Amino acid sequence: MVQVHNWQLGREMEYRYDAGKPKRQFAAVFNTNRCIACQTCTMACKSTWTFSPGQELMWWNNVETKPYGGYPKHWDVKILELQEKANPGGQVWNTAAKDAKKSPYGTFEGKTVFETADGSQNQVTGYIPAEEEWKAPNFGEDTATKTSTDGAQLPEHAGWFFYLQRICNHCSYPACLAACPRNAVYKREDDGIVLIDQERCRGYRKCVEACPYKKSMYRPSTRTSEKCIGCFPRVEGTDPLTEGIPMETRCMTACIGKIRLQGLVQVDDAGLWIEDPSNPLYYLVHIAKVALPLYPQFGTQPNVYYIPPRWVPRDYLRQMFGPGVDAAIEAYTNPSRETLAVLQLFRAAQSIVFSYKIEQGPKVQELTIAGQKRELYDDVIIGYDSQGREITRVSVEEKTIDRGAQFISLNTI
Ligand code: SF4
Ligand code: SF4
Ligand code: SF4
Repeated sequence: MVQVHNWQLGREMEYRYDAGKPKRQFAAVFNTNRCIACQTCTMACKSTWTFSPGQELMWWNNVETKPYGGYPKHWDVKILELQEKANPGGQVWNTAAKDAKKSPYGTFEGKTVFETADGSQNQVTGYIPAEEEWKAPNFGEDTATKTSTDGAQLPEHAGWFFYLQRICNHCSYPACLAACPRNAVYKREDDGIVLIDQERCRGYRKCVEACPYKKSMYRPSTRTSEKCIGCFPRVEGTDPLTEGIPMETRCMTACIGKIRLQGLVQVDDAGLWIEDPSNPLYYLVHIAKVALPLYPQFGTQPNVYYIPPRWVPRDYLRQMFGPGVDAAIEAYTNPSRETLAVLQLFRAAQSIVFSYKIEQGPKVQELTIAGQKRELYDDVIIGYDSQGREITRVSVEEKTIDRGAQFISLNTI
């Protein structure tokens, strides 16, 4: 066991291995407010990586409707229950103790999935879902908590649901890796992507049992476990399509709702993100603090971050995304000039945006949102690839083009 610092928990914790120190870490931000559950991401992944025999129940990317949906069924409720049973009443946060870098959300005073395990039989608290739990990936789709007949109003809707987009989190302290008795799971030094060596895997399913997000899956036809591979040929720029430049993954680039932004962030030896304010992911997670980790209390330090849905009861969201929820929703509802510009980068390019620059534009509007006066500027954000070349240029104000009367055909009206 080694002591590691988990900045999402704001404290040290024990992990089975010296986790390896990737130079850069695969990371992404998903904006739950914009997802339309079209499942284009899901099919982009499936048609690329899991269309073969034995992979029928394998959805490395899935989009589930919360609070009732889940793939596998009720995965998060089950883990939360196991953790609560192991540490009754103790799964709490101390939001007072804060260090901007090492504990931005306060300190988690409860136990992680590593700390509730007995350490002899199991390295991690978990369970193996039964086969039928994998069979209905869209269980509970579009099911709200109740039907509202008198309309809905922010800040919290009485009847609500939202879409949660899920892939492997390529965790900094992966539970799948800690649990594997064959050392078949490894974390890549160049990008922190977590992979399962198919030659070493013997299908013991300890990773399936251990992953609290249930993103390691068993394939009966090969008797091995498989998981999201972070589309590594695209991320490293070796897929012929990329022309040598790191490109976002299949599920990210296919996103219709423009809710996903993926990239690589620099991390130091202690697993902390190196200050890099011109990286859009660094800006969204560490400066604007508008995007939060999913169930940080599990302790794996996941690297997919979520902008929480604005209309959902805050207690539910705090359990799911930790104590940063209120600040994140405020930062999204009343975005700063810079945040508004960075939000335009979502799906503006296929290559990974490594840095950005903002050119300030004129004031175009004054408006009142949630009782607050706002000024809107038509700034332009420019995104650069790994070589520092411009790959996208987007303005805050969406342009409209009047094509003129000659394009109106009377026959089609
Ligand atoms: S999400 Fe699960 S499968 Fe992915 S790295 Fe984390 S523990 Fe492993
Ligand atoms: S990153 Fe690639 S492998 Fe992983 S879920 Fe997305 S498309 Fe599938
Ligand atoms: S493609 Fe985008 S909008 Fe559609 S379900 Fe996936 S994440 Fe949501």
